[in-house]
Amino acid sequence: MAVGTLSHVYPLGSRLDEAGRLEVGGCDVVELAREFGTPAYVYAEEDIRARARAYMQAFAARAERFEVVYAGKAFPCTAAFRLLAAEGLCCDVASGGELHLALAGGFAPGRIYMHGNNKTEHEIAYALEHGVGHFVVDSFDEIDRLERMAPGQRVLLRVTPGIRPSTHDYIATGQADSKFGFGLDDVPRAVERASQRLELRGLHAHLGSQVFDLEPYEKLAEVLTEIGDYPLLNLGGGLAIAYTAGDEPPSVEAYADALLRGAPDGVTVLCEPGRSLVGNAGVTIYTVGTVKRIPDVRTYVAVDGGMSDNLRPMLYGARYEAEIAERFGGDELCTIAGMHCESGDILVRDVLLDDPRPGDVLVTPATGAYGHAMANNYNAAPRPPVIFCSDGDARVVVRRETYDDLTVRDL
Ligand code: PLP
Repeated sequence: MAVGTLSHVYPLGSRLDEAGRLEVGGCDVVELAREFGTPAYVYAEEDIRARARAYMQAFAARAERFEVVYAGKAFPCTAAFRLLAAEGLCCDVASGGELHLALAGGFAPGRIYMHGNNKTEHEIAYALEHGVGHFVVDSFDEIDRLERMAPGQRVLLRVTPGIRPSTHDYIATGQADSKFGFGLDDVPRAVERASQRLELRGLHAHLGSQVFDLEPYEKLAEVLTEIGDYPLLNLGGGLAIAYTAGDEPPSVEAYADALLRGAPDGVTVLCEPGRSLVGNAGVTIYTVGTVKRIPDVRTYVAVDGGMSDNLRPMLYGARYEAEIAERFGGDELCTIAGMHCESGDILVRDVLLDDPRPGDVLVTPATGAYGHAMANNYNAAPRPPVIFCSDGDARVVVRRETYDDLTVRDL
């Protein structure tokens, strides 16, 4: 592969140097592997910043009043919250733990939206104690709970608008058969209940994630506006990103056009991007440990991570790319296996690599969203560090877990 040519799945500003080695945020990832070990999540800080600005600009050019709300679940890391707060975004959190991280990252409580289909009293109390701006109310039981715990609290109602985008079943949320929110039949009663002792400020809907087709978004504002006029109209997140070179997601501008099409004047329109802010900013680096060639069957390239640092291939059959960081390209058909005791622990099936060998640094791009977020300790694997790279400088923003971390809770 020629110097410098990289597909759009890699972080903005990434390149192959003269020796054909991958650079992210100006840092040589083979050097990063040496310095910080593997597996590791490596982010180009500027990529996140640029995408945040693109969102802000796209909405500023089209709407008088808007908020871009970072869906913190995609990458709940204090350094990311800090960066996106500084870029002027709001954020949403889906649990007490995410709220804790958003606050630690410096988000003003009033700019935080609290989600969750089953917020516990403990989580609600924690959010109230810190003065969280809005709760996105998900059920009649939650209305009861909030009325009791926080009369007068500002809320939005989460609506399942009966719009099903085409995406994986596990990440479709807009259809009537959903654990989230109020179906259209229940909405009138929910509106009435939520208006009694709470301050109902608006409506919310999230159709699903990794959505390429913008048509469902065009109807969304209209469907919600028919329910009633409120100052806030939160149209959720879900814009697709490129996980593989063949993926061509719509631009943020086209997405903003679609979302805003049915939105009435005078309301504040909110959108809640997660993966499209941070997904392509991050790559995961691994070290190849073994290469098992089964003639006429398959070549397994085993790396030192797997389903503990990237659950998405197992969870949704998500497809990624992979390359040897210092030898892009190649023609050997390989399957990237994790190190976990599960046959299904496969990170990438059928990818072409250049003669993989033990000791090679392997990179999977587009792991910036829901990688670190879903990391787990299966097989007691210590979770990887998060490294932010910018202008050739690398800094660890989440350190690697140690074996001692694994026993720290054991009594
Ligand atoms: N908003 C809500 C309510 C969600 O549930 C999600 C994802 O699950 C998002 C926003 C962000 O979705 P994405 O990361 O696909 O943009």
